[in-house]
Amino acid sequence: MTNKLQDSPFIKVLDNLGFQPEVAGGFAGEWLGSGKEQRVVSPVDGETLGTVTNITPAEFDTILGRCHKAWLGWRLVPAPKRGEVVKALGDELRKNKDALARLVTLEMGKTLRESLGEVQEMIDICDFAVGLSRQLYGLTMPSERRQHRLQEQWHPLGVVGVISAFNFPAAVWSWNTALALVCGDTVLWKPSSKTPLTAIACTKLAEKVLRQFGFDPAICSLAIGRGSDIGDLINTDPRVALVSYTGSVPGGRHVGRLVQERFGKLILELGGNNAIIVSDHADLDIALQAVYFGAIGTSGQRCTSTRRVIVHEALYETFVARLLELYRRTRIGSPLEEATLMGPLVDAAAVTTFQEAIQNVQHQGGKLLHGGESLPNAGGCYVTPCLAEVTSDLPMLQEETFAPLLYLMKYRTFAEAIAIQNGVPQGLSSAIITHDLVEAEVFLSAAGSDCGIANVNTGTSGAEIGGAFGGEKETGGGRESGSDAWKAYMRRQTSALNFSGRSELAQGIFLEI
Ligand code: NAD
Repeated sequence: MTNKLQDSPFIKVLDNLGFQPEVAGGFAGEWLGSGKEQRVVSPVDGETLGTVTNITPAEFDTILGRCHKAWLGWRLVPAPKRGEVVKALGDELRKNKDALARLVTLEMGKTLRESLGEVQEMIDICDFAVGLSRQLYGLTMPSERRQHRLQEQWHPLGVVGVISAFNFPAAVWSWNTALALVCGDTVLWKPSSKTPLTAIACTKLAEKVLRQFGFDPAICSLAIGRGSDIGDLINTDPRVALVSYTGSVPGGRHVGRLVQERFGKLILELGGNNAIIVSDHADLDIALQAVYFGAIGTSGQRCTSTRRVIVHEALYETFVARLLELYRRTRIGSPLEEATLMGPLVDAAAVTTFQEAIQNVQHQGGKLLHGGESLPNAGGCYVTPCLAEVTSDLPMLQEETFAPLLYLMKYRTFAEAIAIQNGVPQGLSSAIITHDLVEAEVFLSAAGSDCGIANVNTGTSGAEIGGAFGGEKETGGGRESGSDAWKAYMRRQTSALNFSGRSELAQGIFLEI
């Protein structure tokens, strides 16, 4: 353990969240970590934020063992009581909203405005889960047998292994945790190695609440370490009943194989390649706002970021001219400053990936209209957002580049626009900007968008917690957050109850003995 965090200019933010100078990366009722030390560098200005000690495989075993043991007790606590704990967690997040948001900004670089939104989303899902704790309904069905009853109940599942991406370093944990807790599960979180401090801060808040209620704090455990080490331990251990994985498509393919191999349950929330169709019946102001924020928000590092815009040829020139004007005026800079619209990318490797992707696009025949430079003098990982004009057969269009790189292309017929929108392997988010009712309905119909999210007159990003969140095809098919996504965190039990006083099988079969 080190004291480096104490020297950091950001210690005040961490102080507000109850940090000690020693930052161990593991928690299961007590803090532990004696593996490799990891320096955490801010993409905002290249400053060292602190040092986190990763856990060892032996410590992982201890943590998972305690988290599983905690589940044996937690599953028996009445769901509305579990809801009270989640309510208190939401209150803690309200109290610490500003400090936690600042930490998110310092650690991963999104603007403070967006980080505050991320923490608000955490509070919202806690509120949602509190209500849910009294609504974990099962069904009763009419039995085909006389004086029988058929029913379903939902029971807690076990330990939920939450593996999260860097770009929503706090919210993804809360979407999973708030639901898992009311469902009677415990949580073992492996965050991205790029954002360990945010994970420690969230776990501290959960620890405080669980202790206040007298519950085992290992109910919300933490395991920080390399994905390939700790991640694989989660993927392969049968004590983890459900793995909820948020990350890239290749990562999800690996996790999916391992978890499926042992018949574990899975939620996969993988990459997107999201498009907006701008119809000739669009309100241009709405279209510009949706596209611009969708593409540059979080510096293009949202799974729902807008990556492709498919514009009707009749308004293409006007649309592109106005979008270019917005791009030229983009205020890039410290994400802590109010006026900033676009902060840095998460790290230097992300800047390299961005620039390599732009080179590829140009090699494949795409035309660069704006941006793509890195801004090394700013001290952090800053770039200018990129606009590229392409045709719909460009091979790079099939890939998610996790950066502010937006492709512009024309369409002539509506059928062609839908075909382009659906013509990628990913299926997370999509949108159409139109005032034509028929176009909007077709877009939302079985013959329309093939994505998990399909919006009309609003962009691809900024999902509300009330709906189920997730995508189709290579996005993995998982659903989190609102609606009935909670069912993935429980096991369903179907029961037939016989009060007839005789024995009868279904399908009218009687056995005489
Ligand atoms: P990533 O795939 O690099 O990492 C995701 C997580 O997987 C990290 O915690 C990492 O440590 C872990 N990991 C690495 N190897 C592992 C292994 N062998 N077993 C288990 N876990 C392992 O993704 P990233 O760069 O952090 O995030 C960006 C990606 O995540 C993008 O593709 C983005 O679209 C996607 N994403 C999707 C959603 C969604 O809800 N669909 C949300 C956020 C991000």
